[in-house]
Amino acid sequence: MAKYAILKSFYASDEWITLRLTLINERGNRCERCKELIPRSKDIIGHHKVELTPENVNDRSISLNPNLIELVCFDCHNKEHNRFGYQSERQVYLVYGPPLSGKTSFVRQQIKRGDLVVDMDKLYEAVTMLPGYDKPDQLFTNVIGIHNQLIDNIRTRYGRWINAWVIGGYADRYKRERIANDLGAELIFCDVSKEECLRRLEMDEDRKYRKDEWQKYIDKWFDTYVP
Ligand SMILES: [Zn+2]
Ligand SMILES: [Zn+2]
Repeated sequence: MAKYAILKSFYASDEWITLRLTLINERGNRCERCKELIPRSKDIIGHHKVELTPENVNDRSISLNPNLIELVCFDCHNKEHNRFGYQSERQVYLVYGPPLSGKTSFVRQQIKRGDLVVDMDKLYEAVTMLPGYDKPDQLFTNVIGIHNQLIDNIRTRYGRWINAWVIGGYADRYKRERIANDLGAELIFCDVSKEECLRRLEMDEDRKYRKDEWQKYIDKWFDTYVP
């Protein structure tokens, strides 16, 4: 049986999201290391100078301390983590949680160059040219086909990727644990309340015209969720 731990995603929390945006507003859109301009603020990574662990993540003087957070670009972040050689073995992560819980942002904060990311929304985008929040049902069979192929590659450790990230709702505990076992993946839960998801939907510019549809996705997730 695969060994995995359940981590709660600090990066999905309101406090972290707000702090990160505040720091970007205060410090600007430049990488604090190489001084390169980072045009899209979602690409700015808030790097913790003290590595976050399940033990220290709830210590606000570490995880939410501006003095210990550096805003950096993807390349500098890569270099920082590779320098210390944190890990030698490739890891697989299953990142799950309700719609709008910040799964993608969380993964964007964590990945390095050469990682494999499997995300149904992104696969839809790749083959429909539609924005990620618009997923026509007619394409489901094709998209899930690519998805399953990639999942298979992860299971058999096929290819030369470094770490792999599987993003999805996975509300059903049985399915979630089965796939995690199957892949030898660590489970990461983006733990956000239903109220908070609905609040984010209310403020979301992209989903403005598809609110009903996304409200249904959120309802469905919380109806089927088993902790
Ligand atoms: Zn940089
Ligand atoms: Zn970092």
